[in-house]
Parts: sequence; C-alpha cells; structure tokens
Amino acid sequence: MVTHTVSERNQTGIINDDKALAWATASNVLDPEIPCVTVGELGIVRDIELIEDEVTVYVSPTYSGCPAVLAIEMAIETELLKVGFRPNIKRILSPPWTTDWISDVGREKLRKFGITPPVNASSKMGLFGKVNVECPRCSSNNTEKLSEFGSTACKAQYRCKNCLEPFDYFKCI
Ligand SMILES: [Zn+2]
Repeated sequence: MVTHTVSERNQTGIINDDKALAWATASNVLDPEIPCVTVGELGIVRDIELIEDEVTVYVSPTYSGCPAVLAIEMAIETELLKVGFRPNIKRILSPPWTTDWISDVGREKLRKFGITPPVNASSKMGLFGKVNVECPRCSSNNTEKLSEFGSTACKAQYRCKNCLEPFDYFKCI
C-alpha cells in the first residue's frame, strides 16, 4: 500500500480524508497582499493537526509586523468554518519564516504577476555581495533599485534598464 503525506495528497488533488481537506482549505487561502499566490505556496501554513472536528493550523508569519498576518489568520479561520471545522490558529515564530519556503509554483506565479521572487539563499549574493535582481518581464539582470519600499513594506521597487519597466522585488529574509 502506498501512503502519502497530507501535503502530497493535496498536490495530487485527491482529497479523501478530513485532514487532507483541512490542509487544502487552509493552504488555499490567498495572500491578501499578493492575491495571485496562496499561503500554502508562500510556505506560511506549516502544519495542521486534526482532533475530531477541531483543526489546529500552525502558521509562520512572514515579515514581522506585516499587517497581513492577522488578515491571513482570519481568512484561514473563515474558510475552515465554512467546511465545518472548528479552527484554532497557532503562530510559530521559531524557526522564523524564510523566503526559501516559497514553493516553485509560488515563485512562478509571483513572476507572472510582475514581482521578482526572492533569490534563494544559496544564490543570494553575487559579486561584491550585491543581490542580483532579475526583471520579471524580460529576465534582464540590468536593473536598479528605486526605493527600499514598493507597494508594501515587504517589497522593494526596482526598474529594469533593459525594458524600462518598474517592478516589485519580494525582499529576502
Ligand atoms: Zn525588463
């Protein structure tokens, strides 16, 4: 018999038990600031526990002080209530959330949305310790930082010198 973890079962789209349904429901909540990606794809939902109809969802806040955290927790609660669970949200602060937890699917969606996804920790530093930020439209590395803060505090504003388009870069932490 092949056994799957809850997250694997969710990826195959076969939801055949309550824990998988709770996982899918919680992780499919959209990020309020970047509504093209789910909190599951951002790696914010870390784990769930199900005891009878009570679901405990372990959530790792992204940027500390990001006002989106509360909105995300409330949205997860609302969605779980809709499908009949009693939600209980627990914040995990350690280990702290890192942009490395964003899934490949999440990164691709960010790029299509016009936001350059965070560079992985392993390739974060280029020559002279400078972050190499690629344009999400034309993939050029010829970019410049306009402002440390983009549309939200979590992003920096950049401009591509090749296609001349401004874009947001999801900052690494
Ligand atoms: Zn460009």
